[in-house]
Amino acid sequence: MNWRKGKRVAIVGAGPGGISTALAMISRGYDVRVYERQPEPKALGGAVLLSVPVLAVLREYGIDVSNFGSYTSVAFKNNRGKERANLPFNPIVEKAFDIKGWHYGVLRSSAFGKMLERVPDGIVVGDHALSHYREHADGVTLYFESGETVEADMLVGADGINSKVSRQAFGDPGLFHVGLRIWLAWCDPIDGIPPNEGVISHSRKYQASYFPMLHDGKPGYEWWIVEPSKENAPRPKNVEAHVRKILSEFSDPLPRFPDATDFDHQIFCWDVYNRPSLQTWSKGRVVCVGDAVHPVSPYAAYGMGMAIEDGYFLARFLDGRNLDDPQTLRDGFAKYEETRVEYVNHNVEFARKMGNIFHHQSYPVAKIRDLIFDHTPFLNKMIQRDYLDEQEAMCMSMKELHVGY
Ligand SMILES: Cc1cc2nc3c(=O)[nH]c(=O)nc-3n(C[C@H](O)[C@H](O)[C@H](O)COP(=O)(O)OP(=O)(O)OC[C@H]3O[C@@H](n4cnc5c(N)ncnc54)[C@H](O)[C@@H]3O)c2cc1C
Repeated sequence: MNWRKGKRVAIVGAGPGGISTALAMISRGYDVRVYERQPEPKALGGAVLLSVPVLAVLREYGIDVSNFGSYTSVAFKNNRGKERANLPFNPIVEKAFDIKGWHYGVLRSSAFGKMLERVPDGIVVGDHALSHYREHADGVTLYFESGETVEADMLVGADGINSKVSRQAFGDPGLFHVGLRIWLAWCDPIDGIPPNEGVISHSRKYQASYFPMLHDGKPGYEWWIVEPSKENAPRPKNVEAHVRKILSEFSDPLPRFPDATDFDHQIFCWDVYNRPSLQTWSKGRVVCVGDAVHPVSPYAAYGMGMAIEDGYFLARFLDGRNLDDPQTLRDGFAKYEETRVEYVNHNVEFARKMGNIFHHQSYPVAKIRDLIFDHTPFLNKMIQRDYLDEQEAMCMSMKELHVGY
C-alpha cells in the first residue's frame, strides 16, 4: 500500500467520522490509514436518524441511498397527541439533492456497514490504541499503546467523546453530564401507524418518540425516551417496566412499542455528555472531526450525521494538495473550520437548549411552557429559525452534491 510523503493521512478512530474522513480523503488522492483501538470497527447499538445532506455525502462516496432508510415527515406533539409543530422541508433542497424529505431512520449497524464496504482492504488497522502524538518540522509521529510508531503528514482525531487527540491538542474537554438519559430502541413494524410519519412528543417531563426506519432494507421503527437523570444514576432493575410506565403517559401508538421490542437485544441506554464549545478544531498538523470536538445531546439527532459531514468537508478543503507544506494544512483547516465550527456549535447548543426547555423546568414554568407550545406557533417558529433555516442554508451551499437541476 502507498504511503507517499506529502500524502500521508493518519486517522485515529474508525467510527462514522473516521470512516467518512477516510473515504473522502481517499477519493481526493491521499494515502490513508485508520487506526482503531478495537480489533475491528463496530457500530454503536440501535438506530439513528440521518438527514438529507448526509445521504447526499454518502451517495457521493458511492453508497446506494435509494433503499437506505425510511423517508419521514416529522411532527412535534404533546403527550395527548395534539400537534405543536411540523417540520416541512424546503422543496428546493429536496430537488437540488433529488432526495425527498429530511430525516431518514436507519439501523446504525446497516448504515455504518455500508460505509465500511466502500473502504478498500488494508486501510483500517485494528488493535491500535493511540497513546499520544508528537509534531515535528516534517510531520507528526503517532505513538500507540503497543509501543509502535507511525509517521504521517497529518493526523485526524476521530476518536470520539473521550478523544486523546483532542485532549492533547486542546486540553481537558471539561465534559459534563447534561442531566439526561436516553432509552433508544427499535422494533419490527406495528399496525395502524400512518406511513412515513415520525413523531417527537413531550409530556411535562419526558420525551417519547418514534420514527419509521429500515434495517437492512426491512421496515421497522426506532423509538426512544428521553428522561431527566443525574450522572451515575443507577439503571432500573426492570427496564421494560420502567419504560412502559413512562410510555403510559403518552397516547397511542407509543404505549404499544414495547410489545414489538426484544428487550434483550433491541434497547440501549445512554447517558448524555457535552463539552463547552471549542472555537478551533485544529492545531499544527492535527485536526479533529465528530464527537472528538463536538459531542451532541439528542435533540438535533445529528451527531453521526455531523461527524460524516465533517470528514467530507475536511477532504474537500484539502483537495488533494501536498501536505508537506504546513501552510497548505493551515489554509485547508482554516476553510474547514470556517464552514463547520460555528454551524456545528450552533446545532450542539440548540440541542442542549431544547433539552433544558423540555426536561429541566420547574412545575409552574413547565405548565406555562406547555400552554404556549400547545396554543401558539412558538415551537414551530423556534425550530424553523434555529434548526431548519441553518440546515437549508448549509444544504444549498453544498452545490457540488446537487444533482437535481
Ligand atoms: C443516545 C444517542 C442517540 C444518538 N442518536 C443519533 C442520531 O439519531 N443521529 C445521529 O446522527 N447521531 C446520533 N447520535 C450521535 C452519534 O452516535 C455520535 O455523534 C457519532 O457516533 C460520533 O461519531 P465519531 O466517529 O465522531 O465517534 P465514535 O462513533 O465515538 O467513534 C470513535 C472511534 O474511535 C475509537 N477510539 C477511541 N479512542 C481511541 C484511541 N485512543 N485509539 C484508537 N481508536 C480510538 C473508538 O473505538 C471508536 O471506534 C446519538 C448519540 C447518542 C448518545
